[in-house]
Amino acid sequence: MSTYPMSEEEREIQERARRFVDEELIPHEVEAEMNAGRIADELRERHHRLAIELGLYAMNMPKDLGGQGMTTFQQVLVSEQIGRVTNALGWCVHTPPAWAPAVVTPEQLERWIVPTIRGEQHECYAITEPGAGSDVDAIEATARRDGDGYVLNGRKWHVTSYNTATYLFFQAKIAESPHAGEHAMFFVDKGTPGVRLVAEPRYTHTYPDSHAIVEFEDVRVPAANLVGAEGDGMAFTYEWFRYERLMIAARCCGAAERLIDEATAFAKERVQFGQPIIEFQAIAHMLADSVTELWAARLMTYELARNIDRGVDVKIQHAQCSMAKLYASEMANRVADRAVQIFGGRGYMRENVAERFWREVRVDRIWEGTSEIQRSIVADQLAKRGARAIVG
Ligand SMILES: Cc1cc2nc3c(=O)[nH]c(=O)nc-3n(C[C@H](O)[C@H](O)[C@H](O)COP(=O)(O)OP(=O)(O)OC[C@H]3O[C@@H](n4cnc5c(N)ncnc54)[C@H](O)[C@@H]3O)c2cc1C
Repeated sequence: MSTYPMSEEEREIQERARRFVDEELIPHEVEAEMNAGRIADELRERHHRLAIELGLYAMNMPKDLGGQGMTTFQQVLVSEQIGRVTNALGWCVHTPPAWAPAVVTPEQLERWIVPTIRGEQHECYAITEPGAGSDVDAIEATARRDGDGYVLNGRKWHVTSYNTATYLFFQAKIAESPHAGEHAMFFVDKGTPGVRLVAEPRYTHTYPDSHAIVEFEDVRVPAANLVGAEGDGMAFTYEWFRYERLMIAARCCGAAERLIDEATAFAKERVQFGQPIIEFQAIAHMLADSVTELWAARLMTYELARNIDRGVDVKIQHAQCSMAKLYASEMANRVADRAVQIFGGRGYMRENVAERFWREVRVDRIWEGTSEIQRSIVADQLAKRGARAIVG
């Protein structure tokens, strides 16, 4: 049980999520790994149903819309547990876009957001392009006003969960209007004419969700599909980045805890040269370093969540989300690498949890802003505000 101070309610949420992960998800990891990330349909449906029944689904969405209305800290506790399972089996605990209710129209809320909270619809994000990754402002996708609608064009990469989504958030630059060149975001139903799947390349991890390349060719949508106003597009993306960076940090802490537990158990049991390998200082020190770094990452992540709940200035949040994501993701990569080493040859086998995490946590240093971009954000805030403001 965690020694970090938390209320009875928070501890109960943490335990509820932990039991779900241990009893329902972890037992199916190897099956998923051996089947291109897929498990039986009945099991997938069971996980989806249980995530809803256990009050974990849409934990970030307001209660009056059917979500769980959890605090940021409570969400971190759940995400940390979700991070303990491989093969994205934890993605059954879905978090819809929390920024949306404040900015979408009542019609958009009814048509897309509320069904997403109920688990009947599923979104995906089409932002990154062949020429625009870290530099989001370099996107070339366009949205041209035409009568009572817009015509969208562009090619998007790495569109996560395109295969399971029912609609996309498409980010483009406005063409030919007083807002020309500004970012805008649109709801686009997947079946809209002109939306075409180009490819679903294979990635390092073995997940059931694809990361698609999607072409938008003269896709006509009503003006009612615009999210907020022309020029608002980047604001939503930044808000989503902050949220996801914190949740990545939490998931990385969960992954590290699982890896440390499994590697420690193995090191106590595995005998070479007549003694358990944990008695070799080289092995013991890898475990000691791992658990020390996990503690540091967890304290950062928990404290940041508390800060957000306390309403700390958004610029400070921005820097702290980058620091937590940077440190926790790099920590999880070091821990996974050491765990593979401790398991020896077994650690290189796909049925081994360390092997799977070693591949899976790699992307946490890339998506939602690479480690290099996080360092730039932190350095920028440091130069503007000073160390005391961002860690004080
Ligand atoms: C599995 C996966 C899922 C994804 N899902 C989605 C999704 O659902 N929707 C979506 O829109 N996008 C998604 N992405 C895209 C992701 O956000 C980008 O890959 C990421 O932002 C990096 O962009 P890039 O890959 O184009 O790399 P680049 O920006 O080309 O970077 C290449 C290298 O240059 C470095 N670099 C770039 N700029 C700087 C700088 N200023 N200073 C120092 N170093 C720099 C980077 O850190 C990196 O090491 C996903 C990516 C992956 C791998």
